[in-house]
Amino acid sequence: TKPCVGLLFGGRSGEHEVSISSARAVARAFGEADNRDRYDLKLFYIQKDGCWQSGSLAQQVLDSGAALPTSAHPQNRQNLWQFPPDAAEVTVWFPILHGPNGEDGTIQGLLSLMQVPYVGSAVLGSAVGMDKIAMKTAFAQANLPQVAYQAIDGSQLWADSCHYGQGIEQLEIEVGYPCFVKPANLGSSVGIGKATCRTELESALELAARHDRRVIVEAAADTKIREIECAVLGNDQPEASVLGEITYDADFYDYETKYTPGLANLLIPSTLSTSVTQDIQAMAIAAFKAVDAAGLARVDFFYGETTGRIVLNEINTLPGFTATSMYPQLWAATGVPFGELVHRLVQLALDRFPPSS
Ligand code: ATP
Ligand code: MG
Ligand code: MG
Ligand code: MG
Repeated sequence: TKPCVGLLFGGRSGEHEVSISSARAVARAFGEADNRDRYDLKLFYIQKDGCWQSGSLAQQVLDSGAALPTSAHPQNRQNLWQFPPDAAEVTVWFPILHGPNGEDGTIQGLLSLMQVPYVGSAVLGSAVGMDKIAMKTAFAQANLPQVAYQAIDGSQLWADSCHYGQGIEQLEIEVGYPCFVKPANLGSSVGIGKATCRTELESALELAARHDRRVIVEAAADTKIREIECAVLGNDQPEASVLGEITYDADFYDYETKYTPGLANLLIPSTLSTSVTQDIQAMAIAAFKAVDAAGLARVDFFYGETTGRIVLNEINTLPGFTATSMYPQLWAATGVPFGELVHRLVQLALDRFPPSS
């Protein structure tokens, strides 16, 4: 009998709608003739309140692109661990959830407990990849080039009504201006602010601390940067794709620029020289290994236009997967079309079962 793939989408994060678009593209790829012969597909939609729906309700969300309305009342908690009965038929899970509760190891822990293989990183790789402070510590340990940064305890910020007391001078010395202030556990640039002076730094700290107890302040990578991304695929012998470059008009690649059609352009492959390209590809694989990622990840870099310096920005263990997203487009340009890519990911999930962490 054919393996039954359980496509898991939606979720409790702010990236719910992005997840629906990603899942629609993945479901379409499983509908292609080759994959139809290989797999059965079942849809599982996690509502914004955390409840699971399957079958025609999940199909309806995929078709319409609209989240199912949830009741304003907190759900009976028991609903949260009563999975739809057809979950028992799934032989391999394909989580296509972004952000907290999807990309951070929580759902991966649940699937590990179910003892069913799943696509992507296990608990450790997901959690380390999600938390920018833990991620940077792992990257530093692997000697990967990064900007100067400082981790900040958000509760300390609130205790000092976001003025960060004496700490702010130390921050200015160690990080300097301009700098970027980020909640440690988010994506899509949510809660990120750029600061060029103390007043801006204070309001950026306040914004970030509203989203997360853990906050990070980073030096700007360069006066003029090019944003470069590399897709990684594999388990113990991961491979790197060609590089992609993102161009836009905004001050930085913020939420609006990411999600307003037409504001950002993807250039694939990037026009960087062969030697810079190879350096970045090697760093992407090193970054993937440093956090113990598996299956897939998109690794993001800054290339200093004037300095020629490459710095590693971050890893995303469940990157956007819509038809126009960077990750599948990078693989298509490298010779792995979308339908083949989802097949490879399922095979990688089966290969590494049981997940080690
Ligand atoms: P994603 O949606 O890719 O998960 P994210 O929310 O994790 O994004 P980052 O990639 O860390 O956020 O930062 C978002 C954007 O902010 C970057 O793409 C870049 O434009 C800008 N940025 C962040 N950090 C720096 C930095 N140190 N120097 C220059 N620009 C930066
Ligand atoms: Mg990210
Ligand atoms: Mg992300
Ligand atoms: Mg990013």
